[in-house]
Amino acid sequence: MSVIEEVLKHNEDYARNFTLGDLPMPPGRKLAVVACMDARLTVEEVLGLKTGDAHIIRNAGGIVTEDALCSLIISHHLLGTEEFMIINHTDCGMLTFEDEDLCAKLQKQTGTATVAPVHFHAFSDLEENVRQQIQKVKSHPWIPEHIPVRGFIYDVKTGGLPEVSA
Ligand SMILES: [Zn+2]
Repeated sequence: MSVIEEVLKHNEDYARNFTLGDLPMPPGRKLAVVACMDARLTVEEVLGLKTGDAHIIRNAGGIVTEDALCSLIISHHLLGTEEFMIINHTDCGMLTFEDEDLCAKLQKQTGTATVAPVHFHAFSDLEENVRQQIQKVKSHPWIPEHIPVRGFIYDVKTGGLPEVSA
């Protein structure tokens, strides 16, 4: 059985016992999180969040991309979130390559040059990367200054979540 078939089977049980159909759209705890997609980081478990509590925006690296910014702006202005967290983590895959090398490798493998500039947002300094993501959010003119934007590095070995000083 493919993994997709396996998870669809799980969903049949999930839907059978489903009780969350009446949750409101705005996140109950007014929190939005930008986090890396790493499979070892289950944001809901790490933070004790339940369905309906928060917006969780994920990508490779936990990067505040243009897309992530759009989501944060919608999250605050249309759906009422009032605090933002950025979560990167130790042993991130984004520390293991450089954008240029990956582009060159993919171009060679596929025989196709990139049609548009591609940014994978690889980085070499974890704390500095978190600081940059915080700055990208804070400096956006459509994100009000009163919104706290705090950054953290999840430790995949200990489960801890120390804060990165701004
Ligand atoms: Zn990662």
